[in-house]
Amino acid sequence: MVEMKFLTDRMLGKLTRWLRISGYDTLSIADLEVEGEEDDFMLKNFRDRVLLTKDKELYRKSIKDGRKAILIKSDSVEGQMKELMQKGVKFQIVMDRCSLCNTPLRKPSRDEAIEVILREKLSEDMLKMDLWYCEKCRKLYWMGGHWKNMTRFLRKVEK
Ligand SMILES: [Zn+2]
Repeated sequence: MVEMKFLTDRMLGKLTRWLRISGYDTLSIADLEVEGEEDDFMLKNFRDRVLLTKDKELYRKSIKDGRKAILIKSDSVEGQMKELMQKGVKFQIVMDRCSLCNTPLRKPSRDEAIEVILREKLSEDMLKMDLWYCEKCRKLYWMGGHWKNMTRFLRKVEK
């Protein structure tokens, strides 16, 4: 199966982060340099990606234009995730890409980890943990307390 890739509209910030957490290559229109009218831009660019939008008009235009698109109906991120699960999207926590900027994560070097630990005033004990690094945001990811919260949230969504 070909992995789905997405382009999301401005209304779907939380959903965008969850897609990235789950390993899906997801661009948000909010992070892109848009020339001209935004709807037009979303219609015409990144056509190898499925457009996710809450805008019925944009969805209608996309389908008419032969662009792959999914109309998201729910206002809550849980509801939105459920809608995508019905389309075959699998939500899970994989340390694959940065949830903020979509860059693939990698293991940090010791120097990189130390730089973040000092800058963000984190504990040096973290060096003993499994760490992942976004070189664009210069941010570390690890299985901390937020990890448990995310797992709990996912279980709730999957019910
Ligand atoms: Zn990043």
